[in-house]
Amino acid sequence: MLQQVISAIADRKQHIVNFLKDIVSIPSYSCQESEVVQRILDEMRRVGFDEVRADALGNAVGRIGNGPLTILYDGHIDVVGIGDESAWTHPPFPATERDGRIMGRGSVDEKPAVACMVHAAAAARELGLLDGVTLWVVGSVMEEDCDGYPLMHLIEQEGVHPDFVVLGEPTDLNVYRGHRGRMEIVVRTRGRSAHGAHAHLGDNAIYRMAPVIQAVERLNDCLHEDDFLGKGSVTIAQICSTSPSLCSVADSCEIYLDRRLTAGETPRSALAELRQAVGEGPEIEVPMYEATSWAGLEARQEKTFPTWVLPASHPLVQAGVEAATEALGRPAVVGRWHFSTNGVATMGRLGIPSIGFAPGREELSHGTDEYVEIADLELAARFYALFPSILRKHI
Ligand SMILES: [Zn+2]
Repeated sequence: MLQQVISAIADRKQHIVNFLKDIVSIPSYSCQESEVVQRILDEMRRVGFDEVRADALGNAVGRIGNGPLTILYDGHIDVVGIGDESAWTHPPFPATERDGRIMGRGSVDEKPAVACMVHAAAAARELGLLDGVTLWVVGSVMEEDCDGYPLMHLIEQEGVHPDFVVLGEPTDLNVYRGHRGRMEIVVRTRGRSAHGAHAHLGDNAIYRMAPVIQAVERLNDCLHEDDFLGKGSVTIAQICSTSPSLCSVADSCEIYLDRRLTAGETPRSALAELRQAVGEGPEIEVPMYEATSWAGLEARQEKTFPTWVLPASHPLVQAGVEAATEALGRPAVVGRWHFSTNGVATMGRLGIPSIGFAPGREELSHGTDEYVEIADLELAARFYALFPSILRKHI
């Protein structure tokens, strides 16, 4: 069967490359994914998916098969901004093909997974590898701003109930089984304004913040470290303040924290630690994500994203290792992401076993000159085609 998969994917390789170039060429910032969703739905129809639709949030959703084992392949299709365009060697849009690579914004994070998943699903069905399986392939929206939200919507509101999930965030063709969670936190100090010429009459909120900043820096040094997921961390992403004018004492100051949660840490424990570190004075709150999707749905969620990890011995990980070893022709490596993914919803919030496998290197995400190796697309597509039937043997 491996030889048949290898040859079926080789036959489709140029279609995968062309499809990927098309979807990378369409800018698809979060909440503006309409055009790329339509392009993905067209491709799903063309290769013979049984059901193809945009859901109410705007995710591109396709299904092949109708069996009792339900698997969800997810790849988010929104991208971050391009930063300083002059720093790009090749333009962020449209996609460029050169030296065996596809380049452009989203060429790693994470449109290649979607291009491979769509064609691999069609190839798997043709080869009879989806017997007993319902395979959903989803191009999810809004992930860059609120990881997990699109799949919470899909699973809780759209009647898609996967038994297992494969995430398409870049793993460099390794099998990933978890990552640190994260949360955003705002710390605020308040003071009392006065004219700068009479500053002694005021109470400067920025001075109140100074010891808080030092406490946050010290807190980072003593956070818990996990052997597999790495260390919990906290850093200050932004500071801002208000005052009636630039000739006045500042009356409020806010810092925005990025907190990464390792194994054993929860949003609740992180807030308690922070309170202890900064004392009773400053206000502490977790901000809300609020946005309107391209399809017009209002999204709202607290900005907490749970830590998750699946044991190496779990049948899903074992199936992933076997499928990767076959697809790659070498022993698969198991690891974890440094960043956060839609797994915060599937495994983190809902407890649905999840792994990651995709082409591309995580560290190229969000950078200039993001690229993926074309040879890796073929290997990833082989994995996606082989995986469902291998998973059936393991459960
Ligand atoms: Zn991503």
